Amino acid sequence: MDPRTQQVLAARLQYYRDLGIYDFYRRDVAVVSAPASSDASGTSAPTGSAECSPARSAGCQALDEPVPLGTAEIQTAVISTADMFAAPKPEAAAIDRAEALRLIKQDLGECTRCVLSRLGRKTIVFGEGNPNADLMFVGEGPGADEDEQGRPFVGRAGQLLNKMIEAMGLKREQVYIANVVKCRPPGNRTPEREEIETCSPFLLRQIAVIQPKAIVALGAVSARCLLGLNEPMARLRGRWFDFRGTRLAVTYHPAFLLRDPRQKKETWKDLQMVMEYLGLKPRRGSEAP
Ligand code: URA
Repeated sequence: MDPRTQQVLAARLQYYRDLGIYDFYRRDVAVVSAPASSDASGTSAPTGSAECSPARSAGCQALDEPVPLGTAEIQTAVISTADMFAAPKPEAAAIDRAEALRLIKQDLGECTRCVLSRLGRKTIVFGEGNPNADLMFVGEGPGADEDEQGRPFVGRAGQLLNKMIEAMGLKREQVYIANVVKCRPPGNRTPEREEIETCSPFLLRQIAVIQPKAIVALGAVSARCLLGLNEPMARLRGRWFDFRGTRLAVTYHPAFLLRDPRQKKETWKDLQMVMEYLGLKPRRGSEAP
């Protein structure tokens, strides 16, 4: 390894150590050698610290995708940092998306990784739908009905979500539905940061497998988790975001709409933006669901 690459990698390792991360796994792959470079001045310490500040790292911004190295030359010369530092995921060996999701579910197992497993959870709600969906909805976490049935959005909020999906000209079975946390928070409280940080990597893996064309984040918790932005809903909805190369729209959570039905009109505008992008025609006579 040339000295410059070595220096950049050392800086990156130090950066992870500063964050308290010590365990790295390396895939058994051949490293492409970096071209010799006479210019050492371009070597920069990792610039990703802003992305890991508490305001941004609400959970889904966890470090499973390291920030890029500093220079284009080094980026092309070294095997992608994601490959070097990420532990191989079981789903990498899957032959199709359904199988990959099954492997993620198997990896999740009877999860006891966070306190939600000890606070009255009955069933883990993994998520459900079409593994090849163009559209994915991400909610906050299971409620009582979901905890009973082990399926996302099956209570009153779920019935409204079904109507929203149908108004978009789709059937529920055509989309994929998941949550930021997979276990019911007691009393339906908002999931806590540690719970989100522990659980959301599984959601990220589901998204990576499904590769939807668009994601709709339902409510502020989901939006903040996926985008790492601590903004109010008013600044999040009504526009597109980029989530790791996938378009992401934010809209009101159906449970909120049950409490404040006046916001359904705004939600319908958000959904129409998504429909336009996906080339969907509304169900005949559809208005705000
Ligand atoms: N609310 C959510 O955020 N998710 C569900 O699955 C049900 C209600």
